[in-house]
Amino acid sequence: MNLLITGGAGFMGSHFVKYLLNKYPDCRVIVFDKLTYAGNLDNLKEVQGNERYAFIQGDIGDAAALAAAIEEHLIEAIVNYAAETHVDRSIMDPRAFLQTDVIGTQTLLEVVRKYGLTKMVQVSTDEVYGDIHAGAVTEAAAFRPSSPYAASKAGGDHLCHAYYRTYQTPVIVTHSCNFYGPNQYPEKLIPLFITNLLEGKKVPVYGDGEQLREWIFTADHCRAIDLILRQGKVGESYNIGTGERLKNIEITHLLLDILGKDESYIEHVKDRLGHDARYALDASKLKSELGWEPQVFFADGLKKTVKWYRENEGWWRKVK
Ligand code: NAD
Repeated sequence: MNLLITGGAGFMGSHFVKYLLNKYPDCRVIVFDKLTYAGNLDNLKEVQGNERYAFIQGDIGDAAALAAAIEEHLIEAIVNYAAETHVDRSIMDPRAFLQTDVIGTQTLLEVVRKYGLTKMVQVSTDEVYGDIHAGAVTEAAAFRPSSPYAASKAGGDHLCHAYYRTYQTPVIVTHSCNFYGPNQYPEKLIPLFITNLLEGKKVPVYGDGEQLREWIFTADHCRAIDLILRQGKVGESYNIGTGERLKNIEITHLLLDILGKDESYIEHVKDRLGHDARYALDASKLKSELGWEPQVFFADGLKKTVKWYRENEGWWRKVK
């Protein structure tokens, strides 16, 4: 299969590229990435020179560049990881989020339609559902996004469903909980806190740190997207959740513990504007229909992640 992985130089996209090339000897992987501050070719170093891999620098809002990539590489399907992804940046300046996460997604849908590609998988977030006060949300829940980031992702996801309904464009939307693992740009909570502590700096905890999030390790997310790409039903949505839910302050304490630091390294800062209190996904559809189960416990994944940042200081010092 010839696959176009948009946003494949970012954190999770680059893990999926490596996963595909390792797992499927017949798979050709073309990364199409704008290389924003979050895109990093160092994430793809180990596949450089692989004859089944190629890189194209481009913007998913550029239909002509996408068309050229599809024609040149005989692309059959797309997995879209490309997005502006950081909530705090979306609060400071939302425009780029609309451009990439809404218009960019629509541009991709248009080329999927025009070239009759077999599938597009849209990688999206649990943040589109907004605060979940109790229980866990299924795919039937309405979107109630709180931040400009979540609203932009929701816009892209709505377009996916509209394209399926209107043109039968073969697209599947995935809503995942928070990612963590190696190679994550050190602006998100876990890599920011790990690298701060490695540098002997304090960690900025928003408000009281009571916000609850659900977490998935890179390898588990890759397996979920692989299954959905191969066996998921077009026109459907799938939640990708592990049930491992922790408060930000709990994660902070775990990291202090692993890195041998005390509570004096915690600095409570003003809470994020519009900060959602709680996310929780019901992933029973993915589990019962496609047989997916998470394999990495949070406590183990977190230790692996800390180990990677300890051993790859060169990687994060370059970007931080
Ligand atoms: P990231 O921020 O690490 O990387 C995003 C990548 O997209 C970068 O390589 C960047 O260069 C590229 N990109 C940005 N704008 C582009 C454009 N216009 N055209 C082409 N490429 C562009 O992303 P991530 O954290 O790995 O997230 C990947 C996807 O998963 C995103 O769609 C995000 O919304 C979604 N998601 C993320 C999380 C999370 O916890 N990080 C959770 C659920 C869903």
